[in-house]
Amino acid sequence: MRALTLVADRRLALVDLAPPPPPDAGEVQIRVRAVALNHIDLWGFRGMAFAKRKLPLVVGAEAAGEIAASGPEATLLKAGDRVVMYGGLTCGHCKACREGRDNLCENIAGIMGFHVDGFARELINLPARLVVPVPSGVSLTDAACAPIAFATVEHMLFDNARLEPGETILVHAGGSGIGTAAIRMAKSLGCTVITTVGDDEKGEKAKALGADHVINYRTDRFEHAVRKITGKKGVDVVLEHVGADTFSGSLLSLKRGGRLVTCGATSGPTTTLNLMQLFQQQHRIFGSFGASMRNIRDALAKMQAGLLPVIDTEVELADFDRGLERLESRRVFGKIVVTF
Ligand SMILES: [Zn+2]
Repeated sequence: MRALTLVADRRLALVDLAPPPPPDAGEVQIRVRAVALNHIDLWGFRGMAFAKRKLPLVVGAEAAGEIAASGPEATLLKAGDRVVMYGGLTCGHCKACREGRDNLCENIAGIMGFHVDGFARELINLPARLVVPVPSGVSLTDAACAPIAFATVEHMLFDNARLEPGETILVHAGGSGIGTAAIRMAKSLGCTVITTVGDDEKGEKAKALGADHVINYRTDRFEHAVRKITGKKGVDVVLEHVGADTFSGSLLSLKRGGRLVTCGATSGPTTTLNLMQLFQQQHRIFGSFGASMRNIRDALAKMQAGLLPVIDTEVELADFDRGLERLESRRVFGKIVVTF
């Protein structure tokens, strides 16, 4: 079977691997149909010093496919069923797993496509408990954006920041996979959405998605623009994933008692924090990484109800690195999906 492996930093190779054996009792075998790209793929591609891993590594962290075969105890899933896969090899029995807080698993064996072999291959065996059925009417290309992009935003907005209808939210990088999903989810809840973009063309697209206010962060200081838009009050929630370049400004954009939730640091991982401002303004800061199985099910239900991901480009498996280059270049608006 074909598989796409990372053989060295920034070097991918399409190879022929032996197909997996028939699935074990509690496993299913999945024919992968679509892999969506995320910043975590870029970190892996560039080579991250802190990531313990062995090369070559099969890439791909977020995917959808069809059940090819089920083990004797995986009776709820049958051949042909369409599914998405949870990308973390959780243990399934620690306290966090039992309570449905899968992304806090105490014994996680790694993130697929990053620490351990991922989804960019034709067939894969997985425990059936890590698989979520795709509802009817949702394409596998769209569904492939559920396990990371959509579910991460679900977890950030609703489990962590507890966004409420009618609140005002600042969504950074409105053209990114996370940003486009957050704009749609916040608008569907009835929130006022302010978003930042790097060029006017993306600004028009973000408005078409439903953003109420768009700030070009290259020409305007976004924190000043936010104060102006909100009549000096600030926003209830900031969705952060840019990091060093924006974090201080994001805190300045919050109203008293506002919440900042972050899942990324694409512009750099360190910043300074004004502690006086933090406690006097009673801000709350949430670190958010990944999602629970429930977040994935909720994301898929939203897709079935018509809240779809924005797909920037679809590329073939052999063009995975072209997709990564497009993601890295920031020309992208929405998600890049690799289909095969
Ligand atoms: Zn666990």
